[in-house]
Amino acid sequence: MEKSSLREKLLAEIVELLEDAGGFTEVTQLIVDKVAEYLQMTHVCVIQINQERKRLIKIVDWKHEGALDLLIDGMVYKDFALVDDEICIAHQCEDMTEQRQNQMKEYGICTSITVPIYINDQVAMYLAAFDLEKTIQFDEHDIQFLNISGKVIQNVAQKKVTKNSLLSSYEVLKEILSSIGSGIIVCSAQDGSILFENDIAKTSQEVRRTIKDSIERFFGAKSNQKAYSLLEHYDSISGLWFEVKFSDLTWIDGSKALVCTAHDVTQKKKNQQRIEYQANNDFLTGLYNRMKCEQDVPKEIEKAIIEEGKGAILFIDLDDFKHINDGLGHQYGDILLQQIAAGLQSLYGIKGHCYRMGGDEFIVVIDTDNYKNLDKTIKNIIEMFNSPWYLMETEYYCTMSMGVAVFPDDSADCDELIRMADIAMYDAKKSGKNRYGYYDRSRSNNTGKRLDIENSMRQAIASQIDEFVVFYQPVMDVHTNQFVSCEALVRWNSAALGFLGPGEFIPLAEYLGLITSIGDYVLEEACKQCKYWNEHGYPDFRINVNLSVVQLLQKDVVGNISSILTKTGVNPKNIVLEITESFAINDMDRVLNIIGGIKALGPLIALDDFGTGYSSLNYIKQLPLDLIKVDKTFIDDIIDDEYAQAFIKLIVDLSKTIGTKIVVEGVEKEEQYYLLKELGVNYIQGYLFGKPLSSVEFEQINLQGLTRD
Ligand code: C2E
Ligand code: CA
Ligand code: CA
Repeated sequence: MEKSSLREKLLAEIVELLEDAGGFTEVTQLIVDKVAEYLQMTHVCVIQINQERKRLIKIVDWKHEGALDLLIDGMVYKDFALVDDEICIAHQCEDMTEQRQNQMKEYGICTSITVPIYINDQVAMYLAAFDLEKTIQFDEHDIQFLNISGKVIQNVAQKKVTKNSLLSSYEVLKEILSSIGSGIIVCSAQDGSILFENDIAKTSQEVRRTIKDSIERFFGAKSNQKAYSLLEHYDSISGLWFEVKFSDLTWIDGSKALVCTAHDVTQKKKNQQRIEYQANNDFLTGLYNRMKCEQDVPKEIEKAIIEEGKGAILFIDLDDFKHINDGLGHQYGDILLQQIAAGLQSLYGIKGHCYRMGGDEFIVVIDTDNYKNLDKTIKNIIEMFNSPWYLMETEYYCTMSMGVAVFPDDSADCDELIRMADIAMYDAKKSGKNRYGYYDRSRSNNTGKRLDIENSMRQAIASQIDEFVVFYQPVMDVHTNQFVSCEALVRWNSAALGFLGPGEFIPLAEYLGLITSIGDYVLEEACKQCKYWNEHGYPDFRINVNLSVVQLLQKDVVGNISSILTKTGVNPKNIVLEITESFAINDMDRVLNIIGGIKALGPLIALDDFGTGYSSLNYIKQLPLDLIKVDKTFIDDIIDDEYAQAFIKLIVDLSKTIGTKIVVEGVEKEEQYYLLKELGVNYIQGYLFGKPLSSVEFEQINLQGLTRD
């Protein structure tokens, strides 16, 4: 056969191999055989360059029968007569260096022709033909033949590589998808038919359900944008939460697919719920907290406005909770708060609408649906507080004061509403506790005043404590007719509000916890004053100072009093500390402990306002009292009231047996004075002998024997 027709025939066969389904080596071998048949050289092969591009590996080989072996494997790439970018005929090539030419000779190569084969734009192989026996000259047809053969090999290789990488990356993908802790299903973007599912999606019922549900929902969704976003799915059968995510993917066959992953987020969800719970609930009572209240109320207001309905805020503050809390210990205070919280929650219609705002303050929100039951709800709450609570197997009564503000009538602003309900509550408390009241706009002057007082008081305490001035009221010794002591009574000369009596700000100061600062100031002023008078002609003159229950219950009350006594250098024997009965109803051990501690510092102890409260004579006997001050209310009608007379007589007798002196306060009339003197009272304090005065006036009028420096 003529060389040219052989070439045409072989070329046609080689090109046909493009469509061959066989493996790369297999097909390439067929091509190499045909190239060899045409070239008639000793060796034809395909050489691959290894990954590091250093060494050569013969992957397909053809050798003429009887020819010597050509060792190519392991050859150094650079050493070999290969030129990257074009077909190279070594012995005809002018570019070939002498060194390379010599190297060729060393291998015994007479003729060498190499065609580079590119894969992904890089030379990866060579189709090479060698002759170890003769030097061959090639013409342009030979070169074209080799070029086409090279191109076919390149094409076959390129096709296989692409397919291989797809196949191998699919394998890798499968492996990755299977080892991921989430369930994964790949489905057709057209009809949702499943193309792949990983082990978790296959084996876990809940994951499978979740994904299938989600896929169904995905295809049902109108807006795909929404469908793609991260979804939370609750599988009610297993009680597990999943995060479901969709993303697009081109599948191996080139079709559009969707990947749906379902990741178990139950633990995360639980943590989240716990954090939310902690953020919204009060740890002690489990009720919602202030933050939640401030979130919920605006919603209720909005709802009321939209529905043209009404709602209400009930602000509840326990009366004298501090006494139970500090008296019995915090654990019992906590139990009481829990009982109250549970009690509130159990009342009809308000479950889920109760909030603990802090301390002993609660809020109940009456929404529009329940507004018609407002009166009934208020009644239920009052009734609940009228029955006793059980602490330490003992009945305790703890009443509350409640303020009601109605929305949107009173206000449509959450903060303002709460403040209004608070003001109404405070009004209720001030008018005698254990009651409730509605916020009354017509009294808003009053309430405005309360806020003014609160702000001014905080300011005065912070920077102008000397706005508080101490007045002194004389106490007369009935037997000697001498002033032996006086009571320190505070007044507030406010730059902003004018002159205020204690009745106008002490209860608020106690309520706000500001009494401690004021009380300390009064005690210090009185001690200084006492020391001064003691050193200037009245060495035994005493000053009585009032201590509020709030002050007495503060942490280091004994240390605090001690430091004031020391600081001022007063003789402690000349200071009388007045405590009220309401302190004495606390846990007796604790009361005795505190009073004992104070007494050990030197001052005398007086029981103030005796007869107004609940303290029994039994209590009095236990307390280390030096004085009992009988309240003015007993004195007002003493002339006509035989019961009051008998009461004073009883107290006087009792005081003798326990070594306590009796003071009667509020004496305004002479008849009262004579009667009390007859009944055996020791001291008398009242307008009859003098009103409270500034220290300067007090000296001028009552201490005329004062020696001046
Ligand atoms: P209190 O301790 O019972 O003080 C006696 C109050 O009765 C004083 O009122 C005094 O001015 C008034 N008073 C005395 N004699 C008569 C009288 O013959 N007729 C009438 N109508 N009233 C008389 P004041 O100064 O307004 O004090 C009121 C309350 O304020 C005090 O009652 C006391 O509980 C409290 N308070 C005053 N100063 C202080 C203080 O420094 N600390 C504390 N914690 N409370 C204080
Ligand atoms: Ca007093
Ligand atoms: Ca009193």
